[in-house]
Amino acid sequence: SSELERVSGLIREVEDFPQPGVLFRDLSPLLADAEGFRVVVEEMAAHGTEADVDVVVGIEARGFLLGAAVALRLGLGVVGVRKPGKLPAVAHRVDYALEYGTATLELPEGTLRRGARALVVDDVLATGGTVEAACSLVEHAEAEVSAVSVVMELAALNGRRRLAGRKVRSLLTV
Ligand code: IMP
Repeated sequence: SSELERVSGLIREVEDFPQPGVLFRDLSPLLADAEGFRVVVEEMAAHGTEADVDVVVGIEARGFLLGAAVALRLGLGVVGVRKPGKLPAVAHRVDYALEYGTATLELPEGTLRRGARALVVDDVLATGGTVEAACSLVEHAEAEVSAVSVVMELAALNGRRRLAGRKVRSLLTV
């Protein structure tokens, strides 16, 4: 759609970040644009409605900005899965491999009820390791990942293969 074309134009490409040879997609200008932000939140919320979700899980940090807005739009609560050392009470922690090195995500205690139907939200799907880790946190709480929604998917990194069997939607694929 022309709306999504405009959204695409608001994403900045930054060479050699966070390291040499990497082309980073910076969604900050998109999130700062009232109409662009509205379009992505509406699209993600529509995905959540189709999947009949009852809670939104946002991944630190840009997944927080999107996830909170999507949750409010749907009349739902939001759970932030966080990088280590931030939460006072951790329900579960998962360590996972990144392209270079490892990372950790934590689920806050007292957030996901058993059987909850979660929409997992992040800005960019790259290798899929981060989303996969968030999904495993949801499932460790005996909740369900009903859908995964991202703004942009980097197809060459094959994140979708890693998330096989999950209902993944990206608004833009490059
Ligand atoms: P993964 O490789 O799919 O696990 O991506 C790792 C994390 O880095 C995710 O939270 C992504 O949102 C973020 N990420 C990876 N590549 C980019 C990018 O080009 N722009 C913005 N975020 C990125």
